Amino acid sequence: MALSVTGVPREQLLQQLEVMKAHDVDWRNGRAFTLAYNAGADVLAVAEDAYRAFGTENALNTDAFPSLRHIQADVVGFVGEWLQAGPEAAGFMTTGGTESILMAVKAARERGRNERGISAPNVVLPTSAHAAFEKGCYYFGLESRRVPVRADWRADPDAMADAIDDQTVLVVGSAPQYPQGVIDPIASIAALAAERDINCHVDACMGGVTLTYLARLGHDIPPWNFTVPGVTSISIDLHKYGYTAKGASVIMHRSKQLRAYQTFVTDNWLGGFYGSSGVLGTKGGGSMAAAWAVMQYLGDEGYLRLTAAARRATEELVEVIRSLPELQLRAEPETTLVSFSSSNPTTFDVFALADALWRRGWYLDRQGPPASLHCTVNAIHEGKIAVFADDLRTSIAEVHAAAASGEQGAYGTVE
Ligand SMILES: *Cc1c(COP(=O)(O)O)cnc(C)c1O
Repeated sequence: MALSVTGVPREQLLQQLEVMKAHDVDWRNGRAFTLAYNAGADVLAVAEDAYRAFGTENALNTDAFPSLRHIQADVVGFVGEWLQAGPEAAGFMTTGGTESILMAVKAARERGRNERGISAPNVVLPTSAHAAFEKGCYYFGLESRRVPVRADWRADPDAMADAIDDQTVLVVGSAPQYPQGVIDPIASIAALAAERDINCHVDACMGGVTLTYLARLGHDIPPWNFTVPGVTSISIDLHKYGYTAKGASVIMHRSKQLRAYQTFVTDNWLGGFYGSSGVLGTKGGGSMAAAWAVMQYLGDEGYLRLTAAARRATEELVEVIRSLPELQLRAEPETTLVSFSSSNPTTFDVFALADALWRRGWYLDRQGPPASLHCTVNAIHEGKIAVFADDLRTSIAEVHAAAASGEQGAYGTVE
């Protein structure tokens, strides 16, 4: 399609965008069990209004935009409370979990190089840790040492200890890990780092908000945040269970000194001194302002209410899956992530089930190994599980009748 020569009127463009959206997953009505989160029309309106007010502001230089320095400081402060970060802690807003994790990997590499002269750094992490760590190792030239998880899908700290050597700069645990939704033994993993004085990153991109409020609701949550000695940094996504607009996450470091390894500065060009906190140069203020506004709009009580709703929907979904002989839970959900596979993969294919569900408008993650489906349950799903269960039963019958098989597909795509 060629660019319009004369320009297109605004109304026509907005209408065309709405038409294009018609075939997207209907996340507003809870049809997406991944990729989108919804805490209600009022919260979306707050996010969208704040986003619009700051979409053209640029966080690359907060001398020119002191508003964005203020916004970042507030958001990092709110998150610090959740993570029980001490007064020495310091963080930055990033554009998402991936950027937060990239920065954790980069900071660990810099620290290893500066403090220990490490030239061939490696990262020791469980096979369950997010793909973004692989990306970080690839981008920044570290070796990724994946260590198999235990039978219960949690990281194996003994095996991780065996994989660590004098070039290891970072160990990783997740709270919870994405694929099966279980919490790694963070205290044991962090102890490995503390003994060796290396970095330990906790990936709480998914769980940071939920675990904070599940604990407040009386759930028994194993230690996962800065109260654990040895944890040096934590990532937490606001565009997931913070229910704000896309493009918002925080990486928090235990100290300003550790955070200093994240930043980049140079004057080795003709444009003068240049510094940036993360991957981006020019950085839109929209997602920062939206996060600031949504977090305060919801407040502590809002997040308590939304976490309770998401957890109730999770428990309801778990009961449905337990009642279906074709399906088997991969793990007892510790937060709001539910993963299940086929009880008998040779006679029943879960990817064919995902195809049948998508024909009915439900979008689930397909993952493996082992072949399984994954639901990220959030507040919008409360009251929607019964309808989903009906379509799930119909879809199972359809797959049986057709003896169908499906494709794994992908969590992320390239085009
Ligand atoms: C979502 C997620 C990430 C990656 O975050 P993006 O926002 O998709 O870049 C990393 N780790 C975990 C556990 C996640 O759930």
